[in-house]
Amino acid sequence: MISKKMEAALNSQINKEIYSAYFYLAMAADLREKYLDGFARFFEVQAKEEMEHAMKFYEYVNEQGGRVVLEAIDKPQADYKDVEEIFTLALNHEKFVTKSINDLMTLAVKESDYASAGMLDWFIKEQIEEEANMDKGLHQVKMSVKHPHALMMLDARYGKRED
Ligand code: MG
Repeated sequence: MISKKMEAALNSQINKEIYSAYFYLAMAADLREKYLDGFARFFEVQAKEEMEHAMKFYEYVNEQGGRVVLEAIDKPQADYKDVEEIFTLALNHEKFVTKSINDLMTLAVKESDYASAGMLDWFIKEQIEEEANMDKGLHQVKMSVKHPHALMMLDARYGKRED
C-alpha cells in the first residue's frame, strides 16, 4: 500500500509522463512538416516510450491499492524554429522530469516507502539515459546546423531508431 501523499504524487507523475508524450509528438509533427522524417521518427518513438512510462506508474498505483485519477493534459507548443530548438527544449524537459522523479524518491525515502523507492530506482536510471540522448542530439545538431549535408545524414541516422 502507498500513502495518500504518494498516491497524489504518482498521479501527478502520470500526468507529466503523458504530457511528455504529447510534447514529443508535437515536436514530431513539426518535424514532419519540415520533411525531417528521421528526427520526426525519433520523437515519435520517444512519445511511445513516454506513454510506457505513464503506464508503469499507472500499473504501480493500481497494484499498490491506490486510485489513478487523470487530470487534463496541457497543450504543447505547436511550432518550433528548427531542430536545434527542439533538442534544446527536449533536454530541458528531461531535466525537469529528472527533478520530478528525484522529488518522488525523496518522498519515498521520507516515508520509508521502500517499495516505491525500488520502483523509482528504474526511473532514476532511465533519466540518465534520457538526458544523455537529448544532450547528444543537441550537440550533433549544433555541429551540423550550418551544413545541410551533415544535417540530412543525421536525419537519416535518427530515422533508424527502433520501437
Ligand atoms: Mg519519461
